[in-house]
Amino acid sequence: MSNEPRRAGRHFLQIPGPTPVPERILAAMSRQMLDHRGLEFQQLGRRVLSGIKGLFKTQGHVIIYPSSGTGAWEAALTNTLSPGDKVLMCETGQFAVLWAGMATRLGLIPEVIPTDWRIGADANLIEQRLRADTGRKIKAVCVVHNETSTGCRTRLDEVRKAIDAVKHPALLMADTISSLACTDLRHDEWGIDVTVSGSQKGMMLPPGLSFTAISAKAIDASKSAELRRSYFAWDDMLAMNASGFFPYTPATGLLYGLAEAIDMINEEGLENVFERHERLSEATRRAVEGWGLDIQSRDAKYHSPAVTAVIMPEGHSADGFRKIVLDSFNMSLGTGLNKIAGKVFRIGHLGDTNELTIMGALAGVEMGFDLAGVPHTKGGVGAAMSYLAETARPKSAVAA
Ligand SMILES: *Cc1c(COP(=O)(O)O)cnc(C)c1O
Repeated sequence: MSNEPRRAGRHFLQIPGPTPVPERILAAMSRQMLDHRGLEFQQLGRRVLSGIKGLFKTQGHVIIYPSSGTGAWEAALTNTLSPGDKVLMCETGQFAVLWAGMATRLGLIPEVIPTDWRIGADANLIEQRLRADTGRKIKAVCVVHNETSTGCRTRLDEVRKAIDAVKHPALLMADTISSLACTDLRHDEWGIDVTVSGSQKGMMLPPGLSFTAISAKAIDASKSAELRRSYFAWDDMLAMNASGFFPYTPATGLLYGLAEAIDMINEEGLENVFERHERLSEATRRAVEGWGLDIQSRDAKYHSPAVTAVIMPEGHSADGFRKIVLDSFNMSLGTGLNKIAGKVFRIGHLGDTNELTIMGALAGVEMGFDLAGVPHTKGGVGAAMSYLAETARPKSAVAA
């Protein structure tokens, strides 16, 4: 038994992932193990491998690894590139920093475009760098779609246009770990070659699965790519997936959950899921504006529908504030990372979140400001409530 006193009600997990897992998914995963070489598994394998494609808007292959998103990052690089290859990356925040660090460790040469951590990747600068690369030494352009550390979203369609404008042959790789099932993503239409994602954010699942959508061009590249890979090699995976199976023991429990998550997203409607995220993020931004505070994303063009990073007033520690909110109201807010550590806190509004979840979170923040003596104006919560009430979408059951 824990020495901690019991806290009534549920913990508010408002970090940008892992996100709370809906009861339906928890129930779907609560099953006995099964033979992963048997017919029953094959049906499950086929169901998730085909169902996940719709979320990426791809007709191509989506690989599902038993790994966190970081594993899919590694798979993306090692399956398509060779030692010494140059990769163009944009330092939009902490996740971009980590992906570039991985590229270096793997023996690649990242050419990093320094970027203001208050915006997304700049397609014009990508175009300039590619234009200057007359020797075509850059083999891949890697961008983070939704930079979870800053709450800035990059326009992947603009990045595609930038590559096409120069007719550069580099592969386009996108990290959509915190944007899948939160905001529009068109793997095929935007000509993305490798799109990596994960289970524990917009997908509403526990951590432990990653997803990798790959284009025909990426598969071609994998045939001559010389970086070492074994567990994460695409070829064995694709060969086995063709019949619904996996080359090694898959995370069967999580796959039951994945099948349920895909059903839930389709029942709501993927575009409705995006709209819900936009609406809840707008409510959050109105609250911050109502408090007289600023958010990390400096331009509406980049505002994230999944997470909002709130800048603390000068002289006030974001982490001290987070601790007060946790101790007083049983809510976890996201911490600031890297150079904005202590300066921002993050409110996750992705995954299985609705109006009252976000209102509860915003009320906890506003009360926390009072307790922590953080200067702010009253009315943030009220502004968010007004917006949500004005834009309410009553749902009535469809008559049978
Ligand atoms: C969470 C996250 C990661 C890291 O994923 P893990 O599942 O923790 O390995 C990478 N990129 C982005 C954008 C993320 O949000």
